[in-house]
Amino acid sequence: MKSCHAVCLIAEFTLSLVSNIDRFMILPGATLGLLGGGQLGRMFTVAARTMGYEVMVLDPDANSPAAAFASEHICANYDDKDALARMASICAAVTTEFENVPASSLQAIAEHIPVRPSAAAIHIARDRILEKKTIRDFGLDTVDYHVIEKEADFDEAISSIPFPAILKTATLGYDGKGQIVVSSSAELESAYQQLGGKPCVLEQRIDLACEVSVVLARSICGHIETFAVAENRHENGILDISIIPARVEAEVSSKAEKMARILAEELDYCGVLAVEFFIDKNNKLMINEMAPRPHNSGHYTLDACLTDQFQQQVRTLCGYRPGKTDLVSSAVMVNILGNAWEQGTPAWDELLNNPGVFLHLYGKKEPRQGRKMGHFTCVGEKVDELLKQAESLRKVLPG
Ligand code: ADP
Ligand code: MG
Repeated sequence: MKSCHAVCLIAEFTLSLVSNIDRFMILPGATLGLLGGGQLGRMFTVAARTMGYEVMVLDPDANSPAAAFASEHICANYDDKDALARMASICAAVTTEFENVPASSLQAIAEHIPVRPSAAAIHIARDRILEKKTIRDFGLDTVDYHVIEKEADFDEAISSIPFPAILKTATLGYDGKGQIVVSSSAELESAYQQLGGKPCVLEQRIDLACEVSVVLARSICGHIETFAVAENRHENGILDISIIPARVEAEVSSKAEKMARILAEELDYCGVLAVEFFIDKNNKLMINEMAPRPHNSGHYTLDACLTDQFQQQVRTLCGYRPGKTDLVSSAVMVNILGNAWEQGTPAWDELLNNPGVFLHLYGKKEPRQGRKMGHFTCVGEKVDELLKQAESLRKVLPG
């Protein structure tokens, strides 16, 4: 009698575990919600649909690049109550492709279904002041900075940060927008006005030896997989080229990876996290910023890794462990901006006729100057040769 009772208890316990796991792991066939439908959302959508999920995209742009692959496109603003309610009722979980979705929208959805990464993590990443403070609180290095919330903060900022410095808006900056280099207190004053008199950080301008980034994925249970460290070159504040693996000393790479892991763990982060680093002439690593989503410098993973960063976003959103991130070959990724259309349609055949070159276009209708329209990745054995190939192929594209 006793043993029968015990068996029943065990069976009940096992059943409850199974049903919990069912609720926890979101199975293919379910609908995943995506806030924002740009290129990052497009690549997430392709990954999710390939794995058998439906995808509902919320984006006010009727020509959203992600919508082209989505099961449903809700063409509405990010704070549209009906749209958010529909997402929460149909989707099994929601993720975002950019950090500027209103916090209230994320919270409204999170009352009903999982939002990954969490509204709290996104809140930190979207605000440079909070972001830098959080990183420092975790014991990780950033560049020296001073918060400027009002004009009365100028004097203290100038006395703690030497010129030349960079004034950056606390929120809404991207691709080098919302930041101005300043070399005197007069320039600081006019830059602050130019940036709208909003809260800013004044950062020390570093004489950079190099910039690198680490993209990682962390599951809801805390499993982490990091991708190979990327070396990044920027042009006019916009990522231009990523070189993988980064040509830095092994200790520098492993320290960057360790710092990114600490950040993810301290944040109890779930999802894909990108961490950008500065390296100064003394090989000192400082965290520049983080992105709570896949990142432009992780696009190489589409063609050079066992799992790509968008598959990781699907896996971690759905409650699974991140896939293996082995680097199958070295890679050099080049961004294609709207400038490449200056003389008409670019000569894609010159790129595509190379067996080791992979082209990704985002389906954007208007090729504006500085707008990210696509990228190509050269894969192969020797990174220096790939860089030469990438640089000669990009000459084929005007701009
Ligand atoms: P965004 O949000 O636009 O990516 P970042 O702060 O990452 O803004 O700045 C864009 C680029 O500008 C960096 O990748 C780097 O090349 C350059 N930059 C930004 N801040 C500094 C700095 N403090 N010192 C030197 N270069 C910087
Ligand atoms: Mg950046």
